[in-house]
Amino acid sequence: MPLVTLRTNPCRWSKYAGCVMCGYHLGANRRRITDEMLVAQTEDAITRLNPKVYPSLVFTSNGSFFDRAEVSDEIRPVLAKKLRDAGFQYLIMESRPEYLTPERLRALAKAFAPAGPGPLGRYPLSVSFGLESSNDFVQRYCINKGRHRADYLAAFDLLDREGYAYDCYVLLGKPFMTAREDVADAINTIRFAVDHGVDYVFVMVTNMVDYGLTSYLHERGRYRLPSLWRAVELLERLPDRYRRHVQIKGISHAPVPPRYYARTCELCTEHVKGAINFWNQTGEMEHIRSIHPCSCRQRFAEGEWSERSSQVLAERVLREYRTLADELDLDRTLVPAPRALGLTGVAA
Ligand code: SF4
Ligand SMILES: [Zn+2]
Repeated sequence: MPLVTLRTNPCRWSKYAGCVMCGYHLGANRRRITDEMLVAQTEDAITRLNPKVYPSLVFTSNGSFFDRAEVSDEIRPVLAKKLRDAGFQYLIMESRPEYLTPERLRALAKAFAPAGPGPLGRYPLSVSFGLESSNDFVQRYCINKGRHRADYLAAFDLLDREGYAYDCYVLLGKPFMTAREDVADAINTIRFAVDHGVDYVFVMVTNMVDYGLTSYLHERGRYRLPSLWRAVELLERLPDRYRRHVQIKGISHAPVPPRYYARTCELCTEHVKGAINFWNQTGEMEHIRSIHPCSCRQRFAEGEWSERSSQVLAERVLREYRTLADELDLDRTLVPAPRALGLTGVAA
């Protein structure tokens, strides 16, 4: 499915906070983007993509397609109608939950599917969310998402009522967490998402983008990208009824190419990526089971996968936040109090 990312103004959240691993702002436009520019970008995309070959399209912006700071309320339905008139039949858009309103959803549905919803009460429209984790602590302190899982549940309800489908992104390779904690959290999040009606779960394997907190930590030896074996472990550990909703992303291309992607070893990275891509395209686990057992998997098992920490996650987060405050000369009062992290008996 092709991905069209309009070069809009940056994600609002990335301007004053931002998620720890995000590089979307690098592809954003710093000039003020007008409606006319968005029309021109859409028309350009239409000339490049044949809707007979690609009837479904991920058509989105640099953060939230439903934020009027990126795509105005007036132009959003106009762009959707242009895509429909060109012959596209299914659209997937990305958004933070706070920008969805019944009015915006209805205006878009009316423009893209004027005949109304299909027989199952659904429009050929879907919204993807960067849920990342269903654990509020992880979402807040390891990712800095600025949302809670309750916000996503409210958005799922709204989309259900408005006849939209919805998908989620789940992060693999979260900072401060051991590999086992990271995979366990991703499994819990996938279960949460599927149990709440999500069609697809896109597991994003963290890649190394410039100017993110992950790259800052990496340069100082306090974070490293997950091995691609971690994604394989995740697939192997998921029960089939959840696994079949999962695709693994972030391993080979991005609107703004990262410094580098997660890998295994020189010998088998392309082979493992190929198997994961076959999984994404077919949903057949045989492609994962038949990955050649390279000796680097043993090194993964004995290294990254067997790491344990003597501190609980909240203690590691607190330690890292304090170090960051000192290094960056930040106001120490911005560091959450131990009690706010659920820690008792730790000096404030
Ligand atoms: S991950 Fe999404 S919400 Fe977070 S900063 Fe990037 S674009 Fe914004
Ligand atoms: Zn290898």
